[in-house]
Amino acid sequence: MTAHLLPPGIEVFERGWLSANNILHYGDADVSLVDSGFHAHQNLTLSLVRHALEKNGLGQLNKVVNTHLHSDHCGGNAALEKAFDCEIYIPAAEALAVKTWDMNLLSYENLGQECPRFAHHNVLVPGQQIQLGRYRWDILAAPGHDPHSVMFYQPEHEILISADALWEEGFGVIFPELWGEPGFEEVAQTLDLIESLSINLVIPGHGKPFADVEKSLSTARSRLDYLASDLDRNARHGAKVLLKYRLLEWRNQELSLINEWIAQTPALISSAKILNMSIEEFAEWLPRALVKQPQDVFWLMVIKSLLLAED
Ligand SMILES: [Zn+2]
Repeated sequence: MTAHLLPPGIEVFERGWLSANNILHYGDADVSLVDSGFHAHQNLTLSLVRHALEKNGLGQLNKVVNTHLHSDHCGGNAALEKAFDCEIYIPAAEALAVKTWDMNLLSYENLGQECPRFAHHNVLVPGQQIQLGRYRWDILAAPGHDPHSVMFYQPEHEILISADALWEEGFGVIFPELWGEPGFEEVAQTLDLIESLSINLVIPGHGKPFADVEKSLSTARSRLDYLASDLDRNARHGAKVLLKYRLLEWRNQELSLINEWIAQTPALISSAKILNMSIEEFAEWLPRALVKQPQDVFWLMVIKSLLLAED
């Protein structure tokens, strides 16, 4: 168990894959939440926050702070703002995209996902600090998985909030490489940055907090080598994750509609190009490729039943 490594005033709501973890920070002067989960789970997010505020005798939530703007990290922003009248903080590089809700700059259309529109009140600038609850945290740039992602580091307690830049076993999909933008080198640099910090505990975007950073860094680096040595691998992996994620949300979907979604999702269209497949071939291949992932028994069942229903 690693929860005992958390200093007073920090609570982690460990979520699943559709919703990123939410991290509540509270003290006399401030109550903040890092990341707000996926929109379909917003009611659960609201009750987790309400319950924690009540339990700790806290009046209100002052702000929601997003490590990055993927739909599993900021899908609850709009609902939280409405419920608590709190401020929303986003990475500075996303300010224009959010202000105009620019679908070319935000990731949702590209990745075939959904996120309710929200407005931001403030920005996070790498190199600066931010007060979260009772502690001050360094804001660190963490490009790779997402070019504008940030992490938060608390130097006295040596805690890193790593978002999707480092998980206990790996890191988030290197999306930019799916559409021809750099990502591998950025991931390597972000891992180097993490290695340069003295860390007692990592609170990742998904999964439980962990203390063995060295082991996770070494797992992440061999994963990066594996993906970066062959563009096809990264494209196949990214495409499978995107479909899995969408299926998690749908729970149940007709194969023809899955194929349609694949054929309309820009990140998947460019993945097909990397793999030298027509989009029709690719839309046919992708659900079947998921079935072949033996480690994923649940998805095996879901997709097999979809394919059987279709055949
Ligand atoms: Zn992400």
